[in-house]
Amino acid sequence: MRGRALRYFPSSFSSIYALRVESNRVFSLQLAVSLVKNVSLILSLVFIFGLLVPSLRHRRASTQAVIYGVLYGLLGVMLMLSPTEVGPGFFVDGRSIIITIAGAFGGLIPALITTVMMSTARWLLGGEGAIGGIGAIVILASVGCAVHLYHHRRGILIARRTLVILSAVATAVPLITLWIVAGREVALMSAVPYLAVVPLGMILFGYLLLRQKHQFDIEEALQESEERYRSVVDAMTEGVIVRNAAGVVQAANLSALRVLDVSMEEMQSRAVDDPRWGIICEDGSPFPMDHAPSMTALRTGKPQFGQVLGFQKAGGSVTWLLMNAQPLFKAGNTQPYAVVVTFTDVTELKSAHQSLIQERDLLRTLIDSTPDYIFIKDSSGRFILSNEAHAHAVHVSADALVGKTAFDVFPEGLAAQFHADDLATMQSGEPQFNLERTTLGDQGNLKTVLTTKVPLHGRDGRVIGLVGMSRDITDRKLVEQQSLELVAERERVHVLRRFLADMSHDFRTPLAVVNTSLYLLQKSTDPQRQADQIEKIESQVQRMEQLLGELLDMDRLDRENPEPVFVPVAINTMVAELVRNLEAAAEENHHTLAIDLNHEVPPIMGNAAQLQQALEHILQNAVDYTPTGGAVTVRTSVQHNHVLIAVEDTGIGIGPDDLPHIFERFYRADQARSADSGGSGLGLSIARKVIEAHGGDIVVSSTPGKGSVFVIRLPIQATSTDHDTTAVVRSVG
Ligand code: ADP
Repeated sequence: MRGRALRYFPSSFSSIYALRVESNRVFSLQLAVSLVKNVSLILSLVFIFGLLVPSLRHRRASTQAVIYGVLYGLLGVMLMLSPTEVGPGFFVDGRSIIITIAGAFGGLIPALITTVMMSTARWLLGGEGAIGGIGAIVILASVGCAVHLYHHRRGILIARRTLVILSAVATAVPLITLWIVAGREVALMSAVPYLAVVPLGMILFGYLLLRQKHQFDIEEALQESEERYRSVVDAMTEGVIVRNAAGVVQAANLSALRVLDVSMEEMQSRAVDDPRWGIICEDGSPFPMDHAPSMTALRTGKPQFGQVLGFQKAGGSVTWLLMNAQPLFKAGNTQPYAVVVTFTDVTELKSAHQSLIQERDLLRTLIDSTPDYIFIKDSSGRFILSNEAHAHAVHVSADALVGKTAFDVFPEGLAAQFHADDLATMQSGEPQFNLERTTLGDQGNLKTVLTTKVPLHGRDGRVIGLVGMSRDITDRKLVEQQSLELVAERERVHVLRRFLADMSHDFRTPLAVVNTSLYLLQKSTDPQRQADQIEKIESQVQRMEQLLGELLDMDRLDRENPEPVFVPVAINTMVAELVRNLEAAAEENHHTLAIDLNHEVPPIMGNAAQLQQALEHILQNAVDYTPTGGAVTVRTSVQHNHVLIAVEDTGIGIGPDDLPHIFERFYRADQARSADSGGSGLGLSIARKVIEAHGGDIVVSSTPGKGSVFVIRLPIQATSTDHDTTAVVRSVG
């Protein structure tokens, strides 16, 4: 075995075995020197590791493991080439350091490769200690791997304490093996130098590797973080340029190059004020470069924000950039050492903004050129926008109106109405079309407008205000009013004509009778006939007097003081007396006259003479328009603070065509009968006028051929004299 070993390594190792007997001290010293040489070799190789690691970093993990394995293996074999033979075929060297470190720092694959290489070398060295040597290699590789696995799983670095333990193991295992295979004497002889050198070498080697790994990790983390930042900066759509204190470009991201349309070389070769940048102000004038954001930030040390600059390109097109500049300071310095310029391409935004401005100006011109009032209000009723015409009416500028409410600029009454309309629009969320309203004209005059208010909805659907438009319809209203007045005037003329015709007819009949009677009176000598004619004349004069009286009554009622003096009037007594007065006439016509008076009817406040006149007309009509043998009934009652007087007859009734008109002046449904009854067509209009002046109303229902019922309703306490009550008519059958 030994011969074979010597054949392979004939002069490469120093054999101190022969000298063993001479002096243990010399042997120990030589072994120590040999081991120190091993350790020095190991430590010097750490430097080579340091050079190799960065270039290996980007390779696949398995490749790295193989390379490390081969390196550790080569190192181990190199150590084994200069061993110290401590017994026949027993060699001592620093290999235990290598194999332990290969396992602990490299892991399974490097440990495996190292083990194979070193075991092969040991086998080739031969000798009696070969098996033991290989066994020690395998044990230490396994221990190293176990330590590696433990730390790798937890993602932690090997601690110094672990390193000490490992070094103890790396020292103990070869010595114990030596003891077992070479005997106690050889082991004890080797122990002192081995213990003195190997643990120290192992700790030093491990420590250097740890430091190196730590440093590599930091460098790697730094590089990764730099790459991350770099990719973030490159991925930004914003351009980023870093200039040093002299204004020279230090770095620029991809967006900066793309937006400015330059290469990195061009960027770095151009100074800030290089005319090739073609920088212009927003108004198109050349930009004073000492005011460039980067220059200002470097000069003042203050960040610059939101400057818009134009970069004129070779073709003449301009790229508009929104620029910011942030100075960078080193700790404790007040002068910036660099500046980071960031910019965004706002060319499209700017052109969109410009078209928006144009559109806005166009719309503004449009709304200002209309005489209609156009305005927008927010949800609290404050003007957000107003056109010229609208603002002009309240004597402020359109801008000054913004922020004000209707109450700030319109008279209280108008503003309250506008406010109510606003609320109705916004609360309902529905547009309100063509509200006829009064507002101010530009001369401070009042004018009538048709206003449309449309609610404004926010993105979330909530009502956030309204748009209002008002169109002046004063002139249109005036024309409408005039045409209405014209129609009314025509109607008046028509009524007057009819009245004159009716009057002349009404007066002509009695006058003709008077004429004839006077003629007959002159001719006749018979006293009886003369008396008859005189009686006829008297009756006709009486009829004419009645006609004139009713005309005067009507006229008086038209001109009556709106607040006549009212006194308590006992309605039941009045009705009873009027019916009594009619008894003679009723008897003549064989009418049944009945009264049904409610004794709870209280006195009402009123004008007794007028009320009596009104009731008289209605009662007289009932008698007049009821044929012989008919019945007339009068009832009184109380209902909700009102006294009701119902006059019911079984007379001829009133047709549905006539019914709506019977309260009109001079309207006579049955001309012939009315004339017979001496009716002027004024009775019911006088009655209605009086009842309305007392705050009451009159209702009629009638069935032609069966009879009519007139119901008068009078308030117990007179309320209003100008009460606008309209007679209500009902036709039955
Ligand atoms: P006139 O003096 O002609 O009676 P009024 O104004 O009192 O005028 O009445 C208007 C018309 O209403 C009468 O001409 C008559 O045709 C109709 N009229 C009024 N009262 C009655 C009634 N009780 N029955 C039928 N017709 C009536």
